[in-house]
Amino acid sequence: MRQLLLPLVLVALSCLSTTPKAESLYRVEGYQLENGLQVLLKAVPGTGHVAIRLVVGVGFDQYNCAEKELPHLFEHLLFSGTDDSGEAGVEARMQALGGVWNAYTRDTDTTVTVEAPARNQRAVLDLMLANLTQSEPDSRKLAAAKLAVEHESGVNDSPLQHVLLEHNIGREAHQQIAQELGLACAQPATAADLTLEQVNGLRTDWYVANNMTLIVVGDLDSRLPAYIDRQYGSLPAAELPAPRQQPEPNSNAQQRRQLISRLYGEDGSIAWMFSEPWLDHHDFETWELLRDYIDWQLYQQLRIKHSLTYAPFTEREVFSSSSFFSLNAKVQSKDLPKAEKVMRELLADLRKNGVDAEVFKRLQSAAVAEQSWAVQGASDMADYYWGALADYDGSHFADSRKSLQSVTVEDANKALSKLLDQPGYLRISKPLLNTYGVYWLSTALLLLILILLGLAIWRRR
Ligand SMILES: [Zn+2]
Repeated sequence: MRQLLLPLVLVALSCLSTTPKAESLYRVEGYQLENGLQVLLKAVPGTGHVAIRLVVGVGFDQYNCAEKELPHLFEHLLFSGTDDSGEAGVEARMQALGGVWNAYTRDTDTTVTVEAPARNQRAVLDLMLANLTQSEPDSRKLAAAKLAVEHESGVNDSPLQHVLLEHNIGREAHQQIAQELGLACAQPATAADLTLEQVNGLRTDWYVANNMTLIVVGDLDSRLPAYIDRQYGSLPAAELPAPRQQPEPNSNAQQRRQLISRLYGEDGSIAWMFSEPWLDHHDFETWELLRDYIDWQLYQQLRIKHSLTYAPFTEREVFSSSSFFSLNAKVQSKDLPKAEKVMRELLADLRKNGVDAEVFKRLQSAAVAEQSWAVQGASDMADYYWGALADYDGSHFADSRKSLQSVTVEDANKALSKLLDQPGYLRISKPLLNTYGVYWLSTALLLLILILLGLAIWRRR
């Protein structure tokens, strides 16, 4: 029994430490290096793995329409190679370390993510640092990066794409509203005209230590803090340029509008978007809970009761610095009027009666419960910290369970009535022609050709 006790205690302790218990999730060691680099370290012993996120505070929002793809373009150039072996060379070095990396450009940041065996954590960080400091973009690498960016965004410089978008054909409904409100670019951004000079300017301005956060979660090497201080402490710091002023929404957007999604087909969609008013008390949590609530209402009305669609959904999005809340459904074109009527009735009911307190509390409990299992393992934790950086107070992240729990039914109803106090922007999207339309059009064309042909033959005689 005595001999068993120690292993049992060890197993219990290791379970405690390897399972990211909800309480411990929020407690994270954080400090700043002398050059201003923010470091967040979270030990999850026994995983044999580390998850690294290097967050650089520059993203799409910092650039105007002509330069929008610049941070994304440089994100690709970061991996373009540090010596003659080029892009394949750095990739092979990462493979040899057993790691996998990726990078993401978002509205407000550009982030490199790495998953790697714990034994190679310093070597992997070395490689990432080499990318940051030694990759030398040249015109050949720039051209390759432009191709990659174009491939990912699906945006090319073709005149056809420009013409279609100029006539609002094929533009996604939310993008269309944002563009009408002056919050999104009229044409999708392309990297085609960006230059090496612009790329290097971005690097000098924003890729500086005091604009970066390094997050490392997992089986941390005891020498890691000293290593980070020595290696990453050598990154230069600089005064950051002023953040770009984000455009304010204008009043040009129409309240209801029909859009052409493509040339022909049977599938349509309906999107009803509202500007999300700022709430002084638990803004984020209140809107998240209302999203769950309205999701559930849409599901019951549009899918269960009226069988109009499989997966209706609500969505929260930010365009420039404005937040939006939307109700959405993909519906057969012929069912669009009915779906619009059901959505209209649902909104009228929410305006009149607010939320059902019992249902709201049930969904709130489920949302709180989800916080205890939603973040599993080092990679999830690292992603969580990356997404919640604004909520870090120097030693803790805000406890999302408590924040969600503290939203009352009254809070939700106040927010809902502010949201629905506006008519919102309704966009009905459907193809230009349905299958019958295509059939009749082609028959008519065929007839026309036959008649013209007949006329020509008759005239020759
Ligand atoms: Zn990319």
